[in-house]
Amino acid sequence: MTRKYNFSAGPAMLPQEVLEQAQAEMLDWNGSGMSVMEMSHRGKEYMSIAAEAEADLREIMAIPDNYKVLFLQGGASSQFAAIPLNLLRGKESADYINTGAWSKKAIAEAKRYCSVNVASSSENSGFSTILPFESWDTNPDAAYLHYTPNETIGGLEFPWIPETGDTPLVADMSSNILSRPLDVSKFGMIYAGAQKNIGPAGLTIVIIRDDLIGEAMDICPAMMNYDVQAKGGSMYNTPSTYSWYMAGLVFKWIKKKGGLEGIGEINQRKAEKLYTAIDNSDFYKNPVDKACRSWMNVPFTLANSDLDGQFLEQASERGLVTLKGHRSVGGMRASIYNAMPEAGIDALVQMMVDFEKENG
Ligand code: PMP
Repeated sequence: MTRKYNFSAGPAMLPQEVLEQAQAEMLDWNGSGMSVMEMSHRGKEYMSIAAEAEADLREIMAIPDNYKVLFLQGGASSQFAAIPLNLLRGKESADYINTGAWSKKAIAEAKRYCSVNVASSSENSGFSTILPFESWDTNPDAAYLHYTPNETIGGLEFPWIPETGDTPLVADMSSNILSRPLDVSKFGMIYAGAQKNIGPAGLTIVIIRDDLIGEAMDICPAMMNYDVQAKGGSMYNTPSTYSWYMAGLVFKWIKKKGGLEGIGEINQRKAEKLYTAIDNSDFYKNPVDKACRSWMNVPFTLANSDLDGQFLEQASERGLVTLKGHRSVGGMRASIYNAMPEAGIDALVQMMVDFEKENG
């Protein structure tokens, strides 16, 4: 068996130890005589798996007691609608920050429910930088401010957290949750699709402060209602049981890696290695302002885009796969989430050096 270094933006690599444990427990979880996939979500065994996953996530992220953690379905994309449906709380308008493709999707969906004030947009710079907070045109009556701390396609990541005062801060952390330490208390709500740093697709994590729950609009579907889901322990209906279990295994793996401090150090080193390789060459280029470069998604272009196909082919021969950039930007993109081993970065950098020697 050969495992490849998979640079996919998501679903992405999972830690090998986690996959091996899931494999070992596949037919018989902990003497239960059944696979986790076959368990009733309301049974004693599964309830213990679910509770332990939540407790581990709370520990890793140091989530304060006045926050609920929900294990939902529908992807981060469902949250684009659920957020205004739950968080407008009688207000008419919400602030949004536009830093790229995922911000835009969140904005488009929110516009169906409220008036959206785009308080800052990086569009004029081709989404290559983040404008300073002082320049943002925020509305003091906004129900909340939504932003995308890490834009998965553009590779643009906030190096700071906006200080929005009394306006609840809502963050789509789909592609950078669990990548470094974070002060959860600065946020009203954090959400993320699981398929990058958490586990398999089909699970969406919502971390939300208690006081923001309970004033959903009447038209809000029960499945999207945070109050309903919080009261029902995220089991208003059958949750994504297996993904929730796998997420629990990933949380334990993060604890073994030294928690978010440990993971953050590794991630910083991995990202720096790759950006240094790009910056040290005239052949590769990353367009993002150095201060706002993502630790998780590293887009880069070759000096001659006619060589893109050849680059991808040679990378694939070395077991480096899914490096093709998003169709909207072209070039390459290396997504280097928590589970991408440092050896995968080293192999990519070596390949880039060799390819430049032959073609630069
Ligand atoms: N937001 C961001 C930042 C993402 O990267 C993605 C998925 N790539 C989404 C939202 C959409 O997530 P999902 O597919 O879980 O709906």
